Amino acid sequence: MITGDGAYIKKINRSYILTEIFEHHKISRADLSKITGLNKATVSVQVNDLLDETLIYETQEEHNTVGRRPILLSINEKVAYFLGIDLDREYILFNITDLKGNTVNYEKVDLQTDVYEEVVKVIAEHIKKYQLEYADARYGLVHSMIAIHGTVSTDHTIHFIPRYQWRDKDLLGDLKKLGIDNISVENNANLSAYAEKIFNYYKSDNLLNINLSSGIGAGIMINGELHKGFHGHAGEMGHMIIYPKGKPCRCGNEGCWERYASEPIFFENANKRLDAKIENHSDIKRLLNKGNQEVMEELNNWIADLTIGLNNVINLYNPEMIVLNSPILKSYPQALEEMKKHLLSSVSQYRDIVISGLGAKAGVVGACAMGIQDFLELPRLTLSKTNNSIII
Ligand SMILES: [Zn+2]
Repeated sequence: MITGDGAYIKKINRSYILTEIFEHHKISRADLSKITGLNKATVSVQVNDLLDETLIYETQEEHNTVGRRPILLSINEKVAYFLGIDLDREYILFNITDLKGNTVNYEKVDLQTDVYEEVVKVIAEHIKKYQLEYADARYGLVHSMIAIHGTVSTDHTIHFIPRYQWRDKDLLGDLKKLGIDNISVENNANLSAYAEKIFNYYKSDNLLNINLSSGIGAGIMINGELHKGFHGHAGEMGHMIIYPKGKPCRCGNEGCWERYASEPIFFENANKRLDAKIENHSDIKRLLNKGNQEVMEELNNWIADLTIGLNNVINLYNPEMIVLNSPILKSYPQALEEMKKHLLSSVSQYRDIVISGLGAKAGVVGACAMGIQDFLELPRLTLSKTNNSIII
C-alpha cells in the first residue's frame, strides 16, 4: 500500500497532470480528469496552481463547428530556459531550450586552450552571459548541464576525460567558486541515450545508444532508467576485447573494440589504402557517390568489426532499440543493411537498429531535457524534436 501525507500526494498528482499536458500538447481539464483518474475538483485545484505559477496557459482550439470551444491547457514554454553544454575537444557547444525542449539559442565556441582552469573560466563566462540574457523570464535560466566525453563518477566528479587527459576534476566545485550554481555533469553517451528516448523513441524503455567518435561509448537505458554501474562508469563498451592479442589500446589491454570500430580507425585504414586523402565525412559521401569501390570495401570491413561488438552487446542487453550515433554511418546509405548481414545469430535479439538523427546535438538536447524533467519533477517526459534539427 502506498501512503503519504497530503503535500506528498499533491506533489504526485501535480507531476502526473503536468506529464499528461506535455504528452498531449493541448488538453482539457475534463480529459485530464479522465486520463489521470483524479476527480474534477482535484484537477481544477492543481490546474489553478499551475496557472498561477505560469507553467501552463489556457488556449482554445480553432474550429468551425457550432457550440462552445473547449478551453485547453498547454505548457507555457517561455517561462523557463535550460542550458546544455557539450565539452568537446577544441570547442564547446552551448544549447538553450525553452520549457518545451525547443532549441532557442545555440553557440559553438572554439577553444584556444586545453588547460583545465582556462576552460572552466570559458564555461563560467558563458553561463553568466546566458543567465543575464534569460533573466526576464519568470524562472530565468533554471539549470545548466555539462555533457562530458569521459567518465563521471557517482559523486558527480569527473573521473577521466581522455581527450583532455584530465583526471579527478571537481568541475562543479570549481564552477561554484566562480559563482555558478544549479549545474550538473553527466556522461555524454548517457545524455545521448536519454535524448533519443525523450525526443525519438519515447516508448522504448530498453534502449542502447552507442556513440562512435574518437572512442566508443554507450548510454544504457534499462526499464526506462539510465544504468550507470557501481562507480558510475558503465557503458565503456569500446574497451570490450574483440580480438585477443590484437592492437594495443590506451587502456592497457589489447584488441579493444574501439581500436577497430571507432571513426578515426576508418579514416586511418581508408587513407592507407586510397590515393585520394579522406579527411572528413563529406569526402566519404563524395567518393561513395562516384562509386569508389575501395571506400565501399573499407566501409564494409569497418562495419564487419563494428558488428562483432554489436553482436556481443545485443546478447548482453536484449535491447529494444539500438541507436548508433555516427556521422560515417549516416553518410553511407547501405550501412544498416550491411550491419544486419552480420547479425544473423538466432540468439541475438533486438527490435531495431537505427542511426541517430540528433547526431552531435544529442548530448546537449539531452542535457536540457534532463533539466526540464528535474525542474518539474516529472515521472516521465516526452518532447517534440521539431526545433532540434540545427546542423552543426
Ligand atoms: Zn581499451
